[in-house]
Order: sequence, then C-alpha cells, then structure tokens
Amino acid sequence: MPDAEHQQGVNPTESSSPEAIDRAPLNSLVSPPIPSARRASKRRFDPSLQKECWVSRSMIEMFVECQRCFYLDVRLGFSRPKSFPLSINNEIDRRLKEEFDVYRQRGEPHPYMIKAGINAVPFKHENIDAWRDALHRGIRYRVPGTTLVVGGGIDDVWESRGENKGQLIVVDYKATSQAAPATLDDEWKISYKRQAEIYQWLFRMNGFDVSDTALFLFCNARKNTDVFNSKLDFEVTIVPYKGDTSWVESKILNAFNVLRSDEIPAPNGCCDYCRFAAQAGRI
Ligand code: SF4
Repeated sequence: MPDAEHQQGVNPTESSSPEAIDRAPLNSLVSPPIPSARRASKRRFDPSLQKECWVSRSMIEMFVECQRCFYLDVRLGFSRPKSFPLSINNEIDRRLKEEFDVYRQRGEPHPYMIKAGINAVPFKHENIDAWRDALHRGIRYRVPGTTLVVGGGIDDVWESRGENKGQLIVVDYKATSQAAPATLDDEWKISYKRQAEIYQWLFRMNGFDVSDTALFLFCNARKNTDVFNSKLDFEVTIVPYKGDTSWVESKILNAFNVLRSDEIPAPNGCCDYCRFAAQAGRI
C-alpha cells in the first residue's frame, strides 16, 4: 500500500488554472517550497544532537534511489512535493483490512488464503492496529549505534499454521489493473520487494520469528469486461516472494553516515526531475 506520508496536503480543486499560470510573474512560479513540503525543524536530523530522528520505510527506499533527495528531506528539511491521494487503492486496502479482521477475530483463514493453499491465519496481536497505522509510524525500531528510528505501516501479518507453525508472514496488498495476471516480474517492482524485506527485518528486530517468504495480495481490476456498469471486477491472487533482509541494516548505517556528513550527495544522474529543476533554474 502507498505510504500515507506521501499522499497528503494536495487538493486538486485548489490548483491554479493554466491561464493563471500564464499570467503569473515568473519569479512567483519558482518560489521557495510551500510550507507543507518542509520537514519541521524539530524533526530534522541534527548531527550535533543525540535526539532521535524518524526515518520511514519509504525514506529508506528514497535513500536507495537517490541519496541527495533523502539528505534534502531528512537533514535539510526540503521534502519532495506530496502526491495526490490514491483514493481507490486506499479504499481497497481498507476493505481488505476489515475483511481480514473478521477472520483474525475468529482465528480462521480467509477464503483467499484457503484458495491460494496458504496454511496460515491472520495474526492476532494487541499491536496489530498500531503496526498498521502509518500515520503513527507503524512498527518501528531504534537502530543501535545511531539516532535513527526506522519504521512503517504494514498492511497485514499472518501466522503460519503449517510446517513452521507460529512464524510470521509479512503481507502487502497491491491494487492494480492490467490485462496479464499480476506478478512481481517488472523491473520497477524491486521497490515492492525491498518494502517487504524492510518489514520482515523490522519484525525480526522486534523479536518475532519471521518467514523469509512474504506475500503480495494483488487485486487486479480485470480489463476484459464488456461494459463498465459502475463496477470493477477484481481478480485476487497471492504472489509469494522470498526476501533477503541482509542489506537492510547496512543500508541504514550508510544512510546515518551520509546524514552526519556536511557534504550534500550528488543527484542521481538518471532522474528527470533534477534535470528539469536544473534546466528551469537557468531561466
Ligand atoms: S536526482 Fe534530484 S530530484 Fe531526483 S531523486 Fe535525486 S535529488 Fe531528487
């Protein structure tokens, strides 16, 4: 599911019309970042202090993609602009959570799990709501030797009833719409895999026995229906992924060292946004 922290603060009804932009003086279009795009100074990483600094799962992903953007956000407080809320994806997540909670309470597998041959039940734990609450930082861990607290909101966690009884299985819901069955084969889905691995690592660091296999529950809105009829018809599949968490802690230590340095990392040369910003800045 998309992180809540990346979906807030934008109201499409408030955006400027093309005519208004045409009439605006150029310097008003290249103004400093809007306040909501800045990390509050008390939440920024300060190398001179020992205070804890929050780093979300998606910020670790940002660090993997571009150390500069990560540094601009966490150390200097310039966040990437927020994206629009993914309302349909969020509603699918909410409905799935509600449904799985019914079976969590009963201690029974959901029919999707039975159909996919997964011998597990939704994990019942007093912290399940806190772990799923991205706005309140989900499951978290303070990384020894650093001041960083890393965490994120999971979609679900299931408990194995099979061979490795009691092991936890990290589960992520994904909503999509494609003609072919949903898979993890596309190159860009490496970020999904890293997401699952970070959650596996977080649960391990919180003392749980965690399966190497994470599960992606895809809700794929079929494209081959003749009429819309105000309905989307979803095909639900569960795709396993064998995670490798060996990279996570070293990447976080790497991020901590980058944050402590006064040197701003170079941009990722493949990023269209930085090229655009550099070219626009020359006007
Ligand atoms: S290259 Fe620039 S815009 Fe792109 S991710 Fe890095 S700092 Fe951000």
